[in-house]
Amino acid sequence: MKNDDIDVLVIGAGAAGAALSWSLSAKGIKVVCLEQGGWIDPSTFPSMKHDYETQLTREGDFNLSPNLRNRKEDYPVTTHGENPPFVMMFNAVGGSTIHWQGIFPRFHPSDFKVKTLDDVADDWPISYWDLEPYYDLNDKMLGVSGLAGDPANPPRSKRQTPPLPLGKMGHTLVKGFEKLGWHWWVNDHGIISEPYNGRSPCMLHGKCMFGCPMGAKATTDRTYWPLAIDHGAEIRTWSRVKEITVDKTGKAKGAIYFDKVGNVQEIKAKVVVVCCNGIGTPRLLLNSKSNLFPDGLGNSNGLVGKNFMIHPTHFINGVFEEAMDSHIGPMGSPLFSQEFYETDESRGFTRGYMLIGERTFGPLFQAQDIPWGKAHHAEFGKIFPHQVGLTVVADDLPEETNTVTLDDKEVDSNGIAAAKVTYSLSENSKRMLDHAVRKSTEVLRVAGAKDVIVPPPTNLAHLMGTARMGTNEKNSVVDKNNKVHSVSNVYVVDGSSFTTGAGVNPTSTIMALALRAADKIWEERMEWK
Ligand SMILES: Cc1cc2nc3c(=O)[nH]c(=O)nc-3n(C[C@H](O)[C@H](O)[C@H](O)COP(=O)(O)OP(=O)(O)OC[C@H]3O[C@@H](n4cnc5c(N)ncnc54)[C@H](O)[C@@H]3O)c2cc1C
Ligand code: SF4
Repeated sequence: MKNDDIDVLVIGAGAAGAALSWSLSAKGIKVVCLEQGGWIDPSTFPSMKHDYETQLTREGDFNLSPNLRNRKEDYPVTTHGENPPFVMMFNAVGGSTIHWQGIFPRFHPSDFKVKTLDDVADDWPISYWDLEPYYDLNDKMLGVSGLAGDPANPPRSKRQTPPLPLGKMGHTLVKGFEKLGWHWWVNDHGIISEPYNGRSPCMLHGKCMFGCPMGAKATTDRTYWPLAIDHGAEIRTWSRVKEITVDKTGKAKGAIYFDKVGNVQEIKAKVVVVCCNGIGTPRLLLNSKSNLFPDGLGNSNGLVGKNFMIHPTHFINGVFEEAMDSHIGPMGSPLFSQEFYETDESRGFTRGYMLIGERTFGPLFQAQDIPWGKAHHAEFGKIFPHQVGLTVVADDLPEETNTVTLDDKEVDSNGIAAAKVTYSLSENSKRMLDHAVRKSTEVLRVAGAKDVIVPPPTNLAHLMGTARMGTNEKNSVVDKNNKVHSVSNVYVVDGSSFTTGAGVNPTSTIMALALRAADKIWEERMEWK
């Protein structure tokens, strides 16, 4: 496509960019997507090699952190605050879905109205029911394994493939939840358990974060992108956007980007959609300074980059006498509990959390924490393969002081200012995590654990809130259709647009929002000039 004959320019080819580009191109819209990374060849995945675990335990080029991986297409993210987070993302066609585990819960209806229900944060300007048809469409496009009927969530359509097996660790957790009478259900996964749309089912070999060679895990390079390209969408890889350009009236013209060899290119489009994730998006908006937007595009109210949320967590492990073989099977979660999801003020905090039964990494990862020496093997034999994991996904309410800004020293390989994340746990989140540790310990003990290991709190790879959705320009960056309030032809479609973060993994909601935004962009096509 020529650089000045484009309807919609999409920036970022991850989960959101892929879903949106598919939907727009299926409507006949001319879409070009600029992506700073390339296509990842599955034969290069660590999961194909015997030393696969070293890629996460040392500075390997498949490390979860862009700072440790340090590929040319990565950008540095410096971290600050009382609880500087461990930032995880992947920069390539498919984005962070290359690494993800495919755990695929939906928000609860209550998550969209926490101000009304609990007098905290803000309500979203849309409801669960606005997103429901798009959740369903996205499930169909990816192929989800799971089981409809969970009493803690609204009814949903039949899952495309049956649930993944619970395994020994899953059955052990069920025993604990059942004895306590707590809610549990099998998880929905963006991982297929039977052949679906030409993709092979999961082989249960447990290396999902190291790249799924089967294509069973729904990475968007294997799901949406081939279909979008068939519809005429074009991806330009190794194309890193430096800034979004605007005309004299304050409308976006397009973007300036560095191509693979570092040449500066300009591209024009009628509409620009930013899908660079909860850190990459505010970084790009803040880097897009002009006379009309001296503090960054869409940032006249100073809210771009504020209210960063990342889901605080604890990875709690129960150690059992019997072998649990938790490293076998998809690294995602066979089951979850939402017993403590909705607000109950008697617990001492507002909103709540999900517990997910989580499989463990393999032997190398677990050996790291055991001192070397004569006793190493005996100590290792006590924990491997005897552990069962519970991961907390805590609802991280927005705080203006948790931010993504531009770093004034670090730059990426094209000389563009890096991102700086500043994050501290709120008192509410701390109380929620303490409660989750107590409850996880209780259920693991009841399930038969002889010991429970509780490492310090950390965070998940869920980047949210930095260009939040709201009813007006005072309280938000984008409107209910993901359009930037102050720029009539720019949309932000990723976790940045979350008003609140809920207590579940975010990607099914990110992708449902992307499919909805594509419909809204289409509805407004008569206004494009
Ligand atoms: C280890 C790991 C496990 C995870 N597990 C789960 C899970 O089980 N369930 C779940 O719901 N979520 C999970 N996630 C999170 C999930 O991957 C993300 O929520 C999702 O991919 C976000 O989608 P996105 O499109 O907003 O961003 P991304 O998928 O991160 O894509 C953003 C893309 O934008 C590109 N980009 C950024 N800046 C620029 C620029 N200036 N120019 C050009 N391109 C640019 C990037 O290269 C990247 O490809 C996991 C993530 C990780 C890392
Ligand atoms: S366990 Fe399944 S989803 Fe995970 S990498 Fe293996 S085949 Fe892919």
